[in-house]
Amino acid sequence: MKIETLAIHAGNKTDEKTGAVVQPITLSTTFLRGHDGGYPGGYMYSRAENPNREALENVLAKLEGGADACAFSSGNAAGMSVFQAMEPGSHIICPDDMYHGLRNQLKLLFKGILTFDFIDFTHLENILNCFKKETKLIWAESPSNPAMKLCDIAGIAHLAREHDITFAVDNTFATPLCQQPLALGADLVMHSTTKFINGHSDVSGGALITKEKNELWEKIRTVQGFGGAVPAPFDCYLITRGIKTLPYRMRGHVQNATALANYLEKHPGVEAVYYPGLASHPQHELAKKQMISFGGMLSFLVKGGEEKAHALVNSLKIFTQATSLGGVESLIEHRYSVEGPDTQTPKNLLRVSVGLEHIDDLIADLEAAL
Ligand SMILES: *Cc1c(COP(=O)(O)O)cnc(C)c1O
Repeated sequence: MKIETLAIHAGNKTDEKTGAVVQPITLSTTFLRGHDGGYPGGYMYSRAENPNREALENVLAKLEGGADACAFSSGNAAGMSVFQAMEPGSHIICPDDMYHGLRNQLKLLFKGILTFDFIDFTHLENILNCFKKETKLIWAESPSNPAMKLCDIAGIAHLAREHDITFAVDNTFATPLCQQPLALGADLVMHSTTKFINGHSDVSGGALITKEKNELWEKIRTVQGFGGAVPAPFDCYLITRGIKTLPYRMRGHVQNATALANYLEKHPGVEAVYYPGLASHPQHELAKKQMISFGGMLSFLVKGGEEKAHALVNSLKIFTQATSLGGVESLIEHRYSVEGPDTQTPKNLLRVSVGLEHIDDLIADLEAAL
């Protein structure tokens, strides 16, 4: 089946008892035992399993073309479960512009347990030069946040396979509609489902999807069950509901982002625009090779420095000044002031999560502010 059909049907089970077409929300934390002490319904306790979580995991696995998925209560919890599943002493290679929440997680919570290098992923040799015998994981993010840099997913997958290293891709910015890392050779995909996947800025969630059920995946399942960073049944329901329109929402996000990127690129008040769909993006050829379409995120540099960037944000009427991304409403954010002093983000960079408002209104709002 095609992705539009999977999005609607792979996360839903019509209720056999009542005939409810939309799967009900199962709030019970505990489940009836049978006379033999077993669990006839297949469920025991909601930290370990829940029907709504299973439905969500099922549709996520199908959308990314994976063998299985684990849902978590945030994207950071999903990332953390991979790091927790690593043997102590393992070495991880990460991009130098890794999502700052996960970069700080590694630095603050895994110091002395894991070792890591943060490097520029735009050249494969940089990654190869970091390999040690303890290297167990390569963690990539493409497009990256907020520089919109790409890395060659198939190229890294090839290197990882040759050296028996697990390769994980944070696919939050692209979504499975715009990029399919498992098909390009990655072993694991991570999502902050808080973003495009839920799509309505009202649930926090995360997910991992695996290409195959192997030993590492068993460990990740163990971290999920014993660590307990699992999403509530209602959250699973909402994310599953959001996914039903994900393919159509992404078409709108991509269409609006493309139009906005083209508009900004021509504007004299803009120094540069970073969007993989622009011919001027330094990795546009790679984007065309590995992306299905170019996503709903872009960043741009405002001419005149940080003050001008702040002034611009403050005079917008439709774009909301807030962090996060992937909702139906357009958001704009000054990233430097969020990421802290060790960031590489320029002070005049604004990141835009392009929403589903009419493009004419979005452009008019920016035109007035610029
Ligand atoms: C938001 C985000 C995360 C973290 O997800 P949370 O749901 O906020 O914990 C990880 N990676 C990327 C690229 C993100 O945008």
